[in-house]
Amino acid sequence: PEPRIRRALISLSDKSGLEDLARALAERNVQLISTGGTAAKLKGAGFAVTDVADVTGFPEIMDGRVKTLHPKVHGGLLGVRGNAVHAAAADEHEITPIDLLIVNLYPFEQTVAKGAAYDECVENVDIGGPAMIRAAAKNHASVTVVVDNTDFEPLLAEMSANGGRTSLAFRKRLAAKAYARTAAYDAAISNWLGAVANHPDGDATGFPPTITTQYRKSIDMRYGENPHQSAAFYVSATPEPGTVAAARQLLGKELSYNNVADSDAALECVKAFTERPACVIVKHANPCGVAEADTLEAAYDLAYRTDPESAFGGIIAFNRELDGATAAKIVERQFVEVILAPSVTDEAREAVVVKKNVRLMETGAWPLAATPRREMRTVAGGLLVQDADLALYERLHVVTKRQPTSEEMADLLFAWKVAKSVKSNAIVYAKGGATIGIGAGQMSRVNSSRIAAIKAEMAGLDIKGSAVASDAFFPFADGLLSAAEAGATAVIQPGGSMRDEEVIAAADERGLAMVLTGMRHFRH
Ligand code: 5GP
Repeated sequence: PEPRIRRALISLSDKSGLEDLARALAERNVQLISTGGTAAKLKGAGFAVTDVADVTGFPEIMDGRVKTLHPKVHGGLLGVRGNAVHAAAADEHEITPIDLLIVNLYPFEQTVAKGAAYDECVENVDIGGPAMIRAAAKNHASVTVVVDNTDFEPLLAEMSANGGRTSLAFRKRLAAKAYARTAAYDAAISNWLGAVANHPDGDATGFPPTITTQYRKSIDMRYGENPHQSAAFYVSATPEPGTVAAARQLLGKELSYNNVADSDAALECVKAFTERPACVIVKHANPCGVAEADTLEAAYDLAYRTDPESAFGGIIAFNRELDGATAAKIVERQFVEVILAPSVTDEAREAVVVKKNVRLMETGAWPLAATPRREMRTVAGGLLVQDADLALYERLHVVTKRQPTSEEMADLLFAWKVAKSVKSNAIVYAKGGATIGIGAGQMSRVNSSRIAAIKAEMAGLDIKGSAVASDAFFPFADGLLSAAEAGATAVIQPGGSMRDEEVIAAADERGLAMVLTGMRHFRH
């Protein structure tokens, strides 16, 4: 078998957990080598440690810019074990193998994040650390490399399980992580420097001049949107709780490409509802039924009622723990692809497990206010980047003679939240905390209105006395008038059209109550 780990080089900027690690390594008879600050801390704690300067026969110079950049270190990391030529070179130049490298880098990202001055940021660019990490990772056939303090425990467990050695599989995993770390580190430096170079007084938009965000592959999918497209799902290193990327799959087949996209649409929509239990059913990226009620089951019933035909094969998201009765009702009543909820009771699990293919996802609780994030989408040869649309309205103001009743106001806000999640042009009729008709994705607003009314009629629902939301302003009075003819009594829309006055006059003439939001929610 391979020799056990005998010699470790430890060089840590973040020294948390250092002493416990050193103790555990010393107990396993591992000889310790360290750079200035790390060695000082270890000596202070009573550990036997060799200074890197004694290994290299060369002092640390230039404020630590040159500490470990030396053939005695890099030869020790890079020499291939069992290679006679390498062994002869090591002998000739008195290079001793280093079996384990434990390094975390100068805190460049944190230094930039705290708004440090240019010189301090530059000084926090680590050179020797990444060089050693890359060398050790290249030689993972023999060398173990740790770049993250949360890997101290797994390292020690691995060594205990293997008689002081690590397995090749373990070293490969750590080596991959090591290159991910140095790649992300260099990307952070390049982004910062690019911003500094292009915008000496600060980047006007806050967008970096280059984008190199890292994602790791989470699912290798059977195919993409269509069977002839190959696909995979990548997730960020730290997905926010309550997202598809952070969700845990409890039951069912693996998520497909369309499942992930639609689950995201359903979840992000249901998050708009906080005060009461809510349910969103999504089909082809659009909500086809949304409702709030006193119980989750009632919310599901109302959402389903909006458009039972479209709900077939849909994705269903909830904003409360999924209970057994609701879960049982869903799987008995309809074909469903994915069910998502922040948490899931045992009874709900038992109700779903009988349907082998239904994917049950537990997302975890989400924060009340989403952390600002960016959305990216590719176009041929390019990348479009924007802030995610996380706001609801600028200011609500009633512009008609008639004020909405409190019931109308509640339905207006409800419809507005739904309209935000519907592809443009979006028209949403709602009453009593539930959608009545949804018109989505049409190239003309009037057509979306008509489709929403037709959908309501097909479901046997009455638009009379409902509230209607439009994701963008009515350019002419006709869209508003067709909604009024269908039976809506209250309207919510951004306003801001050149013909606002004409639209408001038409609303007054019909006795409608209209609320402007001052914010548009196109979604394409
Ligand atoms: P210490 O606190 O032990 O003096 O320094 C630890 C830090 O030095 C680690 O973050 C490590 O990545 C970094 N480091 C190790 N060798 C070199 C080097 O040769 N040059 C530079 N700039 N940093 C190094």
